[in-house]
Formats: sequence, structure tokens, C-alpha cells
Amino acid sequence: MFTSTVLFTFTFGLIWGSFLNVCIYRIPRGIFWGSSRSFCPHCKKEIPFYLNIPLLSYIFLLGKSACCKKKISPEYPLVEILTAVLLVLLIFRLRLQGISIFQLHYISSKEWLRLLHGFLFISIMVVTSVIDFHFMIIPDKISIPGIFMTPLVILLHPELSWKSGLLGILLGGGFIFALAWFYHFLRKKEGIGMGDAKLLALMGGWLGYEALFPILFYSSLSGSLIGIILLSAQKKLSMKAAIPFGPFLALGALIQLLSPVSFWSFFL
Ligand SMILES: [Zn+2]
Repeated sequence: MFTSTVLFTFTFGLIWGSFLNVCIYRIPRGIFWGSSRSFCPHCKKEIPFYLNIPLLSYIFLLGKSACCKKKISPEYPLVEILTAVLLVLLIFRLRLQGISIFQLHYISSKEWLRLLHGFLFISIMVVTSVIDFHFMIIPDKISIPGIFMTPLVILLHPELSWKSGLLGILLGGGFIFALAWFYHFLRKKEGIGMGDAKLLALMGGWLGYEALFPILFYSSLSGSLIGIILLSAQKKLSMKAAIPFGPFLALGALIQLLSPVSFWSFFL
């Protein structure tokens, strides 16, 4: 269970998650290519490297910044843990957990490609869903390059076919676009964002059109559950209150990517 590969992946996941935190903070603010140093979001003071260790610094500082003693958002360690857990699940999904990190040459090139694909896809899902959660936008800077990368993903991925990936973009984007148009037609206002359409197009491209129905199933199920819980917990919250749908789409796509049981075999 806790092989060297799993421990290594978890530790690497925490470090990678801390890089994803930087992306989440910087991409929507348009400062991604600015100074490479980390700074305190409260007093803008630079954070020394020894206070910027993923997860551990947060625990040792008891959740308060060393410079100005302000609260560090628990979101930072949570994103790090989430990334680490998702990467470990990917290792299990690809059945690589049993291979020691000293035996990496046993991993075939096909498995490396699947690993790279899953790793990039998970990273995109974490960054877009946390940004959408905060800002109610899915940045074009992520979704559009992601869609344009699909041909490369199809070329490199051992299983994804051209038909599957290209139909995935068209059907994924087209479905939400049609849904948004229909909603606009009925209610005369915007309900579903075009950001969601581009995100589902990316998912369809990277995972194939066959993944779209399971993704929509998982995401609408989890979205409705959370919606009902939020509504019953907070009676005053009006039905019109907007809940970003991107994180639910990402959850659905991650279940589809990482579940060892395929959607159809589960239901049929
Ligand atoms: Zn500070």
C-alpha cells in the first residue's frame, strides 16, 4: 500500500500542489509571468524559502503568516493535499503503485504517456476549479490552449483515437452551448457560462467523447446534491444564487479518469 512510489508521489504532489497554488493566485490576476518570488498576500513581503515548504510551513506557523501574523488561507494546504491525493489515485489507477522508485525502467513508454496525460489533466482540473470557485470564471488562458493541445494529446496517448478526441471537443462544447442557448431562450438571461462550454470541450478532447455522458452524469448529480444541501442549510439563499459549475464538471471528469470501475460496467 505505502510503497516508495506512493510516498514519493504524495510528496511530489504536495510540492506540485504548491506550484498550482501559485497558478491559482496569479493566472486570474494576470501576473503569472511577474516576479518568481513568493510574497505574502497581506503585506506583500517576500516569503523566505524555508517558510514556504508545502504543508509543513502551514502546520509549523499554525496557519499564520510569519511576517504580519495574518491568517493564511487553509486553501493553500488543502490544494496541496488534494493534488497529492489525486496523483496517488492516478498511480493506483495505472497500477504503478507496486513498482519501487528504483525500478522505474520497468514502466513502459505507453505507461509513461498515460501518466503524463493524467498528471497534466489533474493539474488543469485543480487550477480551473479553484479559480472558478473564487472568481466564477474559467480562464480562456487555460481552456483554449488546452483545447488546442488535443491533437498532441491524441498523437501521444496510447488509446485516444482522432474520432474520439475531435468528436469530444465538438460534442462537449456544443452540448453546453446548446444548453446555454436554450436557457437564454426560456429565461431571457444567461445561466450557464461559455467558460463551462470550453471546459467541457477540453474534457471531451482529452478523455474522448465517450467520457462526456459519465462526466455530465457525475457532475449534475454532485452539483444537485450540494445545491440541495446549501439551500436547506441557508434558507435565505435564493434560488438565483449562482454556484459555479466548473468544479463539479472537474469532479465528474476526475471520477471518470480515476475510477477503476468504468461507468457503463457500473450501471449495466
Ligand atoms: Zn505578511
